[in-house]
Amino acid sequence: MTFPVVGMVGGGQLARMTHEAGIPLGIRFKLLSDTPQDSAAQVVGDVVIGDYRDLDTLREFARGCDVITFDHEHVPTEHLRALEADGIPVRPGPDALVHAQDKGVMRARLEAIGAPCPRHRLVSDPADVERFAAELGGGQAPGGFPVVLKTVRGGYDGKGVWVVRSSKEAAEPFRAGVPVLAEEKVDFVRELAANIVRSPHGQAVAYPVVESVQVDGVCDTVIAPAPDLDEELAGQAQQLALRIARELGVVGHLAVELFETADGRILVNELAMRPHNSGHWTQDGAITSQFANHVRAVLDLPLGDPRPRARWTVMANVLGGDYPDMYHAYLHCMARDPQLKIHMYGKDVKPGRKVGHVNTYGDDLADVRERAAHAAGYLRGTITE
Ligand code: ADP
Repeated sequence: MTFPVVGMVGGGQLARMTHEAGIPLGIRFKLLSDTPQDSAAQVVGDVVIGDYRDLDTLREFARGCDVITFDHEHVPTEHLRALEADGIPVRPGPDALVHAQDKGVMRARLEAIGAPCPRHRLVSDPADVERFAAELGGGQAPGGFPVVLKTVRGGYDGKGVWVVRSSKEAAEPFRAGVPVLAEEKVDFVRELAANIVRSPHGQAVAYPVVESVQVDGVCDTVIAPAPDLDEELAGQAQQLALRIARELGVVGHLAVELFETADGRILVNELAMRPHNSGHWTQDGAITSQFANHVRAVLDLPLGDPRPRARWTVMANVLGGDYPDMYHAYLHCMARDPQLKIHMYGKDVKPGRKVGHVNTYGDDLADVRERAAHAAGYLRGTITE
């Protein structure tokens, strides 16, 4: 058997869908998962149950893997360096990955390479937040409030992000005792994502820039390509993502989350170095999906064509609702829309939890959006007809 073994750390839906993309290529997967019930652990044959924070567990897991890649960004940097020292390729490597793990490191590096960011500064306590706001406001009352505060590590889906209107509201982020990053609150018109994939050889491909619609801090809908986006700005966003990947030495999929401002600028919000929710549309809407290209990249194979298959593709996340059984909704959804693509993650339904997504595509954006929103709402149980 000469086909390589990809070691995937983390058993979530991203691992599940990356594994799925490797199957037609005959790529073998080995998974390090927290529990046998995890999304990917249900479908991968070779599963190790263990704690990714434990170096011995990681070392044991990595034995027999040709390359290590990730479902999430939480593996401690020093452990990844140890695996590299053992001679196992880690992709993306620790020096790149730290920029997706630590928002303070990410901001400092992006600033150093001239990537446009919101104004920001690490802050030490509420009084320091007050000083930062005063700097933003140029000394004018009410200063630069509201200000966005973020824990530099461990946040996701808006957890670990606070919008504060005064230093009095700024106590909570400091309670955990971890560093806090303050940012100006950008008055953006919408959020975009520029997704690219880069191989160790330095080959890179860029997907069309997408719009990502958030509801309560969670991604709800992704529209590919972003409607009415100025062509030049779209090109700038792709070039920016490619440059960030090159400068930071990223291997695999890189999502650059962006804010588009009313005066036609883009600012980087954050980076994700793994397949990303803003790229799920590529499963059905692009010639090569983000998952297939991530697999190719970590194995240093030539990358596949990132171009879209349809004029518009829309992805809508399926969140858990009040009904634990979503299967009963398939009958209606499939009968209503034979072109609908459903992707479920095998997770238990809990209110608000991402348990799957749907993709729709076609020529008429309003129709494509309606079909995605309908299916996602029907599966969740918020739409009943
Ligand atoms: P997470 O790591 O939880 O995804 P993000 O840094 O992406 O955190 O922030 C979550 C959301 O908060 C963003 O999608 C955006 O809507 C909002 N947000 C974050 N930073 C800013 C900012 N500087 N200005 C305005 N809104 C922001």
